[in-house]
Amino acid sequence: MALTNFISFKQMQMKDNEQHGFVLELIERASSSATLTGDLCFSCGRQPTTGQGEHVIPKWLQKRFNLANERIMLINGTYLPYRSLTVPCCTDCNNGFLRNIENSIVEFVSNSAVERAAYRLKLAQWMCKILIGLLVKEKALPFDRRNPGKGSIAPPDILEDFMHAQLILQSARKETIFHALHGDFPFSLYLYKVVPDSSFGNFDLSTHLGGQSISIRIGTVGVIFVNDGGLQMEVGSMGPLGLAGKELHPIQFSEVTARVHYKASLRDATHSYVSNETPERLLVNQTAVHPYTNIRFEDGAQRIFRPWSDVDCASFIARYRNVDWGTVYDPSTELFSSTLMDRNGDLPDPRSIENQLNRRI
Ligand SMILES: [Zn+2]
Repeated sequence: MALTNFISFKQMQMKDNEQHGFVLELIERASSSATLTGDLCFSCGRQPTTGQGEHVIPKWLQKRFNLANERIMLINGTYLPYRSLTVPCCTDCNNGFLRNIENSIVEFVSNSAVERAAYRLKLAQWMCKILIGLLVKEKALPFDRRNPGKGSIAPPDILEDFMHAQLILQSARKETIFHALHGDFPFSLYLYKVVPDSSFGNFDLSTHLGGQSISIRIGTVGVIFVNDGGLQMEVGSMGPLGLAGKELHPIQFSEVTARVHYKASLRDATHSYVSNETPERLLVNQTAVHPYTNIRFEDGAQRIFRPWSDVDCASFIARYRNVDWGTVYDPSTELFSSTLMDRNGDLPDPRSIENQLNRRI
């Protein structure tokens, strides 16, 4: 793993870190095995405050969209109500930088007049918090010491991915300057407008933890985040079919989500970083892409995603749209039934997509 140059901890005096609360040191501590297995505060690695801990799906969101009894399916197939989805957290983190992130997201969700694009980093930090919370909750990480024989369903680079998610999250603690290879930030994030449809509710959340992607639909906004250093932005800055920023029906948003999750599952590369920090600010420098394999295309470019398969993509779409596979893909004709493209290749009207789907069936 390319962890060695992930963070240049050694450049700093640990004493100074304690004094100034250096973010890079907190990330190291928060990425310890004890934190990952849910024994310490998930965002600083200190002793957690006794009590309920931090709600992975925040309480304001549960209240606003009546989600307390809604359940999320964990990787092992069990369901957990959102209200019980908590991770250990200390009061300093809970009342400090995590609250600031939540306040920004409340503002983002409540005020449709805000300039959405300005919230990209805040959204990424918030979605990393949820992603990390779910990973801790899943205990899906490779070194669960209490259950060493349990095996791991997590991909081999999950620790590196976890630390990177921590880096994005913790960048909320102080001014951070990002130098990224594929855009403004070292992550992929796509924003959509979503037309309201009461039969689909106001909220939807899905993840692909292996691919480090998470998608949330809140009211009339849809956000998809991938903790991939920005690799999906590299191959498509406007997301699947170039639809970022467009208005979609919840069904269409599910399909975009499935396509991003599928692409995330094909990621075949990681990055190296050199990060430095002063008491005032954090500098995150993404230095290089590191493909996992040494496969090159004819033009000499290195492969950073495994090959795309329409059949596999169709099964992702069926899963995330919660429909039969046959609804999405016809193996006899090898034709996709996409909610994102009509016969002319245009985006179907999100306000009449249901009628169109019914007609097709
Ligand atoms: Zn803490």
